[in-house]
Amino acid sequence: MSRLLEVSGVSKTFDGFRAINNLSIAVDEPELRAVIGPNGAGKTTFMDIITGKTKPDEGTVVFGDKSISLVGMSESKIAREGIGRKFQKPTVFEAQTVRENLAMALKNDRGPFDVLFYKKNRDDSARILELAEEIGLADQLDRMSGELSHGQKQWLEIGMLLAQDPRLLLVDEPAAGMTPAEREQTTDLLKRAAKTRAVVVVEHDMEFVRRLNCKVTVLHEGSVLAEGSLDHVTANPQVIEVYLGR
Ligand code: ADP
Repeated sequence: MSRLLEVSGVSKTFDGFRAINNLSIAVDEPELRAVIGPNGAGKTTFMDIITGKTKPDEGTVVFGDKSISLVGMSESKIAREGIGRKFQKPTVFEAQTVRENLAMALKNDRGPFDVLFYKKNRDDSARILELAEEIGLADQLDRMSGELSHGQKQWLEIGMLLAQDPRLLLVDEPAAGMTPAEREQTTDLLKRAAKTRAVVVVEHDMEFVRRLNCKVTVLHEGSVLAEGSLDHVTANPQVIEVYLGR
């Protein structure tokens, strides 16, 4: 296990409002981490900063051995460094089969030469099957993605991100809108994915976080309020106040 992501002293102000305030978070590789916090705590801005969508005013973000908070580093360049982001809504190609979606993700460019010379003619069938098994859709490969349940679409999109072999996978509220059975499978999927990489799950749902059974970081007003096991952080009086008080 080694340090993969190091966010140090990051701040971001929007129109005079400090959405992220001297935030420091470190994530190891491999690791499964949950980031929780009330509405407005800064969770989305945190993800935007790591993925390069938003540049911090102050502080540094180091990923692997590279500083990725530099102004000149685009979102796509950061993604190619190995950061995958799963937004809340599934965005699969509905008129294509599960297999075609995964095939497309595998062919997705990590650089112009891969597309031209290497990936174009490669046989991806074994890797497609492996990915489908990983996301629990091995028996759905020839189904139209538009026919899948909401949960299955979410898994497919996670599979499409895994096809890029990210070192860090950021997942925004994966269990929202899922059935209890789907939520359980999603827990297993994320735990499996986090065996070989860092997976950071931003989540509202405490029951789901409990199932993940991992280290939890609580954000509040753009900073880390508490960190540790879910039992540890939920016993913290400040965390209780933030969630229940006011
Ligand atoms: P969370 O995801 O935890 O709900 P956000 O990161 O979305 O929190 O937001 C943190 C705070 O920053 C909120 O008060 C929000 O209104 C503010 N904020 C986020 N992005 C912008 C923006 N682009 N312009 C102005 N305010 C923003």
